[in-house]
Amino acid sequence: MASLAPAPTSGYRGRLAPSPTGYLHVGHARTFWTAWQRTREAGGALIMRMEDLDPERSKSIYAEAALEDLRWLGIRWLEGPDKGGPFAPYVQSKRRSVYLAAWKRLLRRGYLYPCRCSRKDLESALGAPHESSLPGSPGSQSNGKLEPLDDEPIYPGTCRRFQGNTPQLPGPTSSEIETPGDINWRFRVRDGEVVEFVDLNLGPQRFVAGVDFGDFVVWRRDGVPSYQLACVADDAAMGITEVVRGADLLKSTARQILLNRALGYNNPAWFHCRLVVDHNGRRLAKRHDSLSLRALRQRGLTPMNILSAELPVEA
Ligand SMILES: [Zn+2]
Repeated sequence: MASLAPAPTSGYRGRLAPSPTGYLHVGHARTFWTAWQRTREAGGALIMRMEDLDPERSKSIYAEAALEDLRWLGIRWLEGPDKGGPFAPYVQSKRRSVYLAAWKRLLRRGYLYPCRCSRKDLESALGAPHESSLPGSPGSQSNGKLEPLDDEPIYPGTCRRFQGNTPQLPGPTSSEIETPGDINWRFRVRDGEVVEFVDLNLGPQRFVAGVDFGDFVVWRRDGVPSYQLACVADDAAMGITEVVRGADLLKSTARQILLNRALGYNNPAWFHCRLVVDHNGRRLAKRHDSLSLRALRQRGLTPMNILSAELPVEA
């Protein structure tokens, strides 16, 4: 097992982007291993980026554990929080200025509107959905169910209709607004627009704006950029050419294509991995402690055991 990341011989740049909200499990191991394999096959560089934007759920012990577990698996990255590199910092909580610049660019170009809906407003407009699927709690898990990171219900458009060519809101116009403040900012989609892309693993994908997803949050009222915004801003800033991640993020990719276009960024290529499911057919969650890399390692399993074990894979 090589102890150093090989020097790149091509312009391929892949990334590993764990979120430190729990210990990594078998599903993460396989996705990250695939990212590493594809980088090696392409003679590229692999970048480690810690996605620790969720202030309540991110813990430094999980961030350290993720780096350690992935090293133990045999994955090697060239740039990252522990290595430095030309695009440092590689920790999202330290990259706020990058996200603010992207937010401001979207605002100036007319893609955003402020949303003052409270959680309660959205719940009543949407018929009281699962609380954890509301914006502001991406990837939350409650009632024993894992909500995908991008499971944001279609916004009913309450605040959208107050926007338009004529200024409706009192106060500064969008060209004068410098900071997001304590409201949500949403990206306005064109209803009915078809967003298509070819996934390098799963083939052609097709989503319809306004049907599969609605106006989505790019900046949260608690001062945190959304996953969608941070992800595209970082992938562009770090020169990522291919994104390898779980298939639960396919719909996020459709939103990110719209963000890339609005921001003037090139799209990377995408390779979405099928999700590993447990014996009950449920997607693995970070709370499946018995399937965490830590626990499996303590039970004596080797990296090869973990990467080749006969676990059922989602169809
Ligand atoms: Zn609203």
